[in-house]
Amino acid sequence: MITRTEPQSGANPAMTISRRDFVKTTVALTAVSTIGLPNIVLGDSKKVVVVGGGTGGATAAKYIKMADPSIHVTIIEPNKEYYTCYLSNEVLSGERTLDSIKQSYDGLKARGINLVHEAATGIDADKKIVKTADGEYPFDRCIVSPGISMLYEKIEGYSEEVAQKMPHAWKAGEQTKILRAQLEDMEDGGLVVIVAPPKPYRCPPGPYERASQIAMYLKEHKPKSKVLILDSKQAFSKQGLFIQGWERLYGYGTENSLIEWQPGPDATVVSVNADEMSVETDFGDEVKGAVINVIPPHRAGKIAVDAGLADDSGWCPVNKKTFESTLQPNIHVIGDACIATSMPKSAYSANSQAKVAAAAVIAMLNGDEVGTPSYVNTCYSIIGKDYGISVAGIYRLSEDGSTIASIEGSGGLTPMDAEPFALAREVEYAYSWYDNIIQDCFG
Ligand SMILES: Cc1cc2nc3c(=O)[nH]c(=O)nc-3n(C[C@H](O)[C@H](O)[C@H](O)COP(=O)(O)OP(=O)(O)OC[C@H]3O[C@@H](n4cnc5c(N)ncnc54)[C@H](O)[C@@H]3O)c2cc1C
Repeated sequence: MITRTEPQSGANPAMTISRRDFVKTTVALTAVSTIGLPNIVLGDSKKVVVVGGGTGGATAAKYIKMADPSIHVTIIEPNKEYYTCYLSNEVLSGERTLDSIKQSYDGLKARGINLVHEAATGIDADKKIVKTADGEYPFDRCIVSPGISMLYEKIEGYSEEVAQKMPHAWKAGEQTKILRAQLEDMEDGGLVVIVAPPKPYRCPPGPYERASQIAMYLKEHKPKSKVLILDSKQAFSKQGLFIQGWERLYGYGTENSLIEWQPGPDATVVSVNADEMSVETDFGDEVKGAVINVIPPHRAGKIAVDAGLADDSGWCPVNKKTFESTLQPNIHVIGDACIATSMPKSAYSANSQAKVAAAAVIAMLNGDEVGTPSYVNTCYSIIGKDYGISVAGIYRLSEDGSTIASIEGSGGLTPMDAEPFALAREVEYAYSWYDNIIQDCFG
């Protein structure tokens, strides 16, 4: 079964929804609609500062402004454009351009959201101020959605500098461009090594979709080449469906397979040598690659860690009903950076959490009761031409509020042995999902 974001109503800055209805909609898990709801006029300006204008931050800012226009909303985000990681694996295979995943902030600006293109350098929870190199931004409530930071030091020899030669491409943009150029420059017969990260990490099916997309490119342009996935894990998301797809499309399991997956713990990569273009596994094997894509372990975005929002795990504990930090008051953490128990670190999760946090922030600023939320996620993976798979989940807050639990019998997975028309339809759904979520976050 597949769930998708509903098409949103377009970038009409004049449209608002009532905050009471907005809170209700997050509870009911219906699409948040802007149609037919009355405007509300509230008192003097309250301030929300959003740190990070990616998927989570953009959604939270937009939904707060839509539901309560009296709130002054500022996004602090260094980049003037946002490149989505989602569908960035298609840039690697040449199926789409980097430009096609570039999003602007014009839609949010047109809604009256203040965009500050600087990095936040600190968040002072006591003084309720976000700092940048050039200014200070006071808040009543702050929402932090800074994504992830790379733990380069967990792999000996790897660093931000080495990532120019052995790219992670786990943040889209320049890194995606480097990896794509390397794949294009590689001779036929070359080995592409993907070093898959340990859990928890951004986009559980992402490394395996990437292997599929690269294999699709190799099959057509460099058929003597191969993708080798070195994994620290022994299992991965949608594994059965991926392997069936690889068998059908790329000869997986045969001598001529375009993809080989080596599971952990033996295949855990412990060091890299950029001069030799090689990696060393825990088992002591040295593997040389023509292209080496190292996705290191990660943790919450640095600003969240620096602001004291992360615990020893490197991720940010939150109240699951409001996404308010359990470590710092008046600051909410959403998206990849937060600990959302069984929800995967995905764009759709970040989008769903952003709506829950937005509803909670509006309620708290207005002295209303915070509703009990539900949450949703779907992840599509495009394995080959006209060959897509997906997993969907619907979640609710546990009775004691301590966890976000999957609702039994909800959601679902593409069935094994699906017919070609159904797999082709999944690709169409994936593209449609992309258009909808972009409109929902940035439109
Ligand atoms: C290859 C790949 C494929 C993926 N495919 C999918 C998919 O198909 N479906 C899906 O749902 N998810 C997918 N994802 C996951 C998805 O991209 C992330 O889960 C999502 O972007 C998380 O949103 P976020 O707001 O937490 O972080 P981000 O979207 O990364 O946004 C973080 C923002 O914070 C900003 N920032 C960081 N530090 C600061 C600072 N100090 N001050 C101000 N701003 C700061 C950054 O510039 C960035 O814009 C994929 C990921 C990858 C890598």
